[in-house]
Amino acid sequence: MIDVVIKKSKIHGEGIFAARDYNKCEVVIRWSTHCELSKEKVGKLSEKEKQNVSYINGKYILVPPEGRLNHSCNSNVYLDKENFCYVAKRNIKKGEELTTDYRKESEPGFEMICKCGSKNCHGNI
Ligand SMILES: [Zn+2]
Repeated sequence: MIDVVIKKSKIHGEGIFAARDYNKCEVVIRWSTHCELSKEKVGKLSEKEKQNVSYINGKYILVPPEGRLNHSCNSNVYLDKENFCYVAKRNIKKGEELTTDYRKESEPGFEMICKCGSKNCHGNI
C-alpha cells in the first residue's frame, strides 16, 4: 500500500503528495516496476516519453507512475538506487509534495530550468 496521492502541483503539472506523516529514513514509495530500456530504444521515444526515463546506475530506467516526482533543489526524498524506492530525507508532513533531486537521477549533460522556488535553487540544472 502506498500512502501518497497524485494531484495538481505548484511546481509542475501533477505531483505526488504524502497522504500521511513520514519519519526521516522511512520508505515513502516503492516502485512497482523498474523496466530497463536500451539506449537505442530511448532514442526512439518522444520528448514526452523521455521525461519518464531516468538514468540510474548507468542504465536507462522507465519510471513507473508512482515514481514521477517533481524535482526540487531542496528535495524531501531521495531514490534508493539499489532497491528502487524513495526514502524520506527528513520528516515529511501529510500534504507535502514529495520531491526528489533530478541531478542525481539523470544522464551527464542533463539540463533543465528549475522553478522549484526553494531558497537554495540552482536555477539551471
Ligand atoms: Zn530549484
